[in-house]
Amino acid sequence: MGVTVCFGEWILWKKDAMMKCTNATGSGKTSSAEADFERTKKLKDRLDRLLREAAEVEVELSRADGTIRGVPHYSVIEGRAHELGKQLSREVQQRQMSELAAAQATAAKCPTCGAAARLETRQRDMKTIDGDAGVQELVGHCPRCRRDFFPDARTVGL
Ligand SMILES: [Zn+2]
Repeated sequence: MGVTVCFGEWILWKKDAMMKCTNATGSGKTSSAEADFERTKKLKDRLDRLLREAAEVEVELSRADGTIRGVPHYSVIEGRAHELGKQLSREVQQRQMSELAAAQATAAKCPTCGAAARLETRQRDMKTIDGDAGVQELVGHCPRCRRDFFPDARTVGL
């Protein structure tokens, strides 16, 4: 329910923003804003469909594997549903981190000596509020210091 309200408010905000954009800068920017709006709406609709389908599959699976039998205590339904939410959260975190790692520079300065170091992606098991998630992150290895480092925004790129 919260998502629906937020999306409605967002639509109003976006329409308002497009009108402001039209008034301020002419039609060139508007078509780009409309394209963004259409793309966002399509993605939201697709996500809603996929979430509904995931919920259907989860209910069917919980019956098939015997987790939910007869009329269970509500906490059993709630607990299982929450586990699925956590699984989705971990999946999103992993994908976000993979995209970030892929878009990053391939080299960075060593924070100790300043030498150029090649960056590689490495999988790291992270403790998240939704459980353990293996995420991709960038690691540099300085040939001069012979040590690994995790680059930050100040050292990536050369
Ligand atoms: Zn170094």
